[in-house]
Amino acid sequence: MNIHEYQAKALLRSYGAPVSDGRVVLKAEDAKTAAGELDGPLWVVKAQIHAGGRGKGKFKEADAGEKGGVRLTKSVEEAAEEAKKMLGRTLVTHQTGAAGKQVNRVYIEAGSGISRELYLALLVDRASSRISFVCSTEGGMDIEEVAASTPEKILTFTVDPATGLQGFHGRRIAFALGLEGAQVKQCVSLMSLLYKAFTEKDMEMLEINPLIVTDKGDLKVLDAKVSFDGNALYRHADVQALKDETEEDPKELAASKFDLNYIALDGEIGCMVNGAGLAMATMDIIKLYGAEPANFLDVGGGATKEKVTEAFKIITSDPNVKGILVNIFGGIMRCDVIAEGVIAAVKEVGLQVPLVVRLEGTNVEKGKEIIANSGLNVIAGDNLADAAQKIVKAVKG
Ligand code: GDP
Ligand code: MN
Repeated sequence: MNIHEYQAKALLRSYGAPVSDGRVVLKAEDAKTAAGELDGPLWVVKAQIHAGGRGKGKFKEADAGEKGGVRLTKSVEEAAEEAKKMLGRTLVTHQTGAAGKQVNRVYIEAGSGISRELYLALLVDRASSRISFVCSTEGGMDIEEVAASTPEKILTFTVDPATGLQGFHGRRIAFALGLEGAQVKQCVSLMSLLYKAFTEKDMEMLEINPLIVTDKGDLKVLDAKVSFDGNALYRHADVQALKDETEEDPKELAASKFDLNYIALDGEIGCMVNGAGLAMATMDIIKLYGAEPANFLDVGGGATKEKVTEAFKIITSDPNVKGILVNIFGGIMRCDVIAEGVIAAVKEVGLQVPLVVRLEGTNVEKGKEIIANSGLNVIAGDNLADAAQKIVKAVKG
């Protein structure tokens, strides 16, 4: 689960991190009051969307102005004006895709004087199975570019969970970032509070780009991106409350309400599968036969008819879906339940695209019978390869 920059900063502030004072604004008419509560001489207005690259982004609408999603202004009035131009407009960055994201909130922040822009991230490193600090002296807007052209400028430090974070970790990072004097101490305490926040809140990633050295020589968190481990959300009601549903894919949101594992993808073939492994195999075989999956969907082991119906509705609500492949191996899940769910869903939402169903396992005969007697135009698949070929052929001709 992702949160906005202003929420991440508030969270980090509560752990003692140095961040600027700021106000979130949802309505243009509140912008002036909000900016007026902050000290000048610089006010930064920042689009709040769940995507990076805002500074270099571009708005779709001409009346949003030429500038990107991070705007430096020199007065309260100017800040309010820029906030008004951004709110409700669509920002396109290299992370949003061509469709962009609507800006429903802006964050107005007391501007900082910058002497250096650094990069810092904490993440769960799968290779070492540990939390790692990733840092670079080349912070700012283009860390992907740094990673591609000068990877030696990105350094990684892993933390042994048995000892936890030690002072030397912070000093090593400070050294790697070229910090000196009082900054070293600031860095050590910043790393320690970030590590604490990261572990206590079950974060998956915490990225600060840039971490700056201000013109006065102090460290400050200028941007913050946090994502949390979805499987641990149940123990963090405070984090759950930060969820901005307008930022979520509506299909994924609906799926999460029915406890379905669903991820929207860009292809044309909707998949309904039980079991994550089988879902992956189904996506692979669709690709093998020359098409692309429109989603990953695991309805789970013991899905009810209602859950299957909901899953089917979510798949058909995607306009990119030109065909559907239902691939079920009945173990705990019975094939007749799936069949009933599919029929119920088709009756409710109609069937505008070809549907191939492949059933195997518990109660398979009963399941096939239900589908055969339904009078619906369903293509039966005999096995995984046959089913995949049939749906690809039905979609691509
Ligand atoms: P991103 O483009 O989405 O990563 O947004 P950031 O919050 O990282 O801002 C992009 C860039 O805007 C930063 O790298 C800074 O160069 C600049 N910027 C942001 N806030 C300030 C500020 O308070 N003062 C100054 N001088 N520049 C800022
Ligand atoms: Mn940034």
